[in-house]
Amino acid sequence: MPLPDDLRSCRLCADRFAATHTAHRPKPVVWFKPGAPILVASQAPGMRAHTSGKPFDDPSGVRLRDWMGIDEKTFWNKDNLAIVPMGFCFPGYDAKGSDLPPPRVCARTWRDAALRHVGQPRVTLLIGGYAQDWTLGKGRVTDRVRDWRAFAPQVFCLPHPSWRNTAWLRKHPWFQTDILPVLRRTIQEALP
Ligand code: SF4
Repeated sequence: MPLPDDLRSCRLCADRFAATHTAHRPKPVVWFKPGAPILVASQAPGMRAHTSGKPFDDPSGVRLRDWMGIDEKTFWNKDNLAIVPMGFCFPGYDAKGSDLPPPRVCARTWRDAALRHVGQPRVTLLIGGYAQDWTLGKGRVTDRVRDWRAFAPQVFCLPHPSWRNTAWLRKHPWFQTDILPVLRRTIQEALP
């Protein structure tokens, strides 16, 4: 079976998800194909992406597309973007209504094969601590975002575009003034 179909049928976390507050079933959101020039290495789908089957189909996606300077049509074209999260399924909510972390078994099982399937992208966005730690080893998101010149233009470390990081964005205005213009230019240059 080709990798995307194989991944789509994965049910490894069925018991884990059944025990969450949301008691949902695994439903991997698979959004990549070989040759995409931009890799979005993200965390895990949220509830809305779980329902629609489209990654970043929520306010986080609106913010991410704004950061990248592209519209929905460009974003959801698999010839442009491959979206490879640390967990391919919505992990569920905890008792406080926050997203649970992506199950570690997912990256251990699927990540390397998914990245091999995509091939070598021109630009990689490492979104949030889970994807950054997996790729770069343990570190702080703020330090990595601030050190953007050490990684760009091949790699950009970004905070998660969730509304939960709105205060972080206010506290670090250089993210918008210094990094986003470079990110947008790099994305435009990488697009086919
Ligand atoms: S999160 Fe990953 S490992 Fe778990 S069921 Fe979904 S695809 Fe499988």
